[in-house]
Amino acid sequence: GKGLPLLLPRGAKVKSLLSRYMRQLEEMRDYQYVDTPVISHEKLYQLSGHAKFYAEDMFSITDSEGQKFYVAPMNCPHHHQVYGAMVTSYNDLPLRLAEHAGLYRHELSGTLTGLIRVRGPITQNDAHIYVTREQLKDEFKAVLKLFKEVYDVFGIDDYWYRLSLPDFQKDKYEGDHSIWEESGVMIREAMQELDVKFVEAEGEAAFYGPKIDVQTRNVLGKEDTIATSQVDVLVPGRMGLTYVDSSSDAQTPIVIHRAILGSLERFIGFYLEKTAGWLPFWL
Ligand code: ZN
Repeated sequence: GKGLPLLLPRGAKVKSLLSRYMRQLEEMRDYQYVDTPVISHEKLYQLSGHAKFYAEDMFSITDSEGQKFYVAPMNCPHHHQVYGAMVTSYNDLPLRLAEHAGLYRHELSGTLTGLIRVRGPITQNDAHIYVTREQLKDEFKAVLKLFKEVYDVFGIDDYWYRLSLPDFQKDKYEGDHSIWEESGVMIREAMQELDVKFVEAEGEAAFYGPKIDVQTRNVLGKEDTIATSQVDVLVPGRMGLTYVDSSSDAQTPIVIHRAILGSLERFIGFYLEKTAGWLPFWL
């Protein structure tokens, strides 16, 4: 089908080297890898809000017993389930869960482009970092440092961040606006303190929180997004994720979603163009 590329042996080799490289870096930084299913019962996506906000972008299947399942377009709801099995107290945080699962998204057929935009597999170099409010800024700074370290290795230096904040005039944004604002401020401060190049875009935030996109130019000179990181202040509460703080009160964690290389397929497409096929020796 369209947007369903097959990788030949050399492509598969590059993909597995990228995956191994990131896993090694992340495990040294206390990320823990997990393994979750490709399909999930629709109830999970109703709970996370994706069935409401994201339904058109998901593939679904109905089994012979009439139960509906979604094909995972992202790992988040699955990792949130893992969180529920692992975390009870603030002592368990920050928790960094990572996975290189093959995801599928119903991208419109007219938008499909080579390895840059596919329907699947989309193997995100994905992780979710669960933090307290106090830990958010430092963890976000650690993510920004990891972006820089990895991009230095690949010789990617022409990039900048686009910070997307909510426009509260639109009803798309739910939940406690003070947490939205506070987390937006923390992200901005983290970027200022590390002196990284960024621009701000109001009204472009994800439905669950502020985000940053890593922007660069492709070989045609067109601005393109290579990776993202999002702060989620909404879904953890909706999915009932909690921890007990030092005063024994129940709290809701904040989640940082981050994909340093974006998806491995998209990164391969971008990097092949950037290097005109002259990959570094280790790849
Ligand atoms: Zn996520």
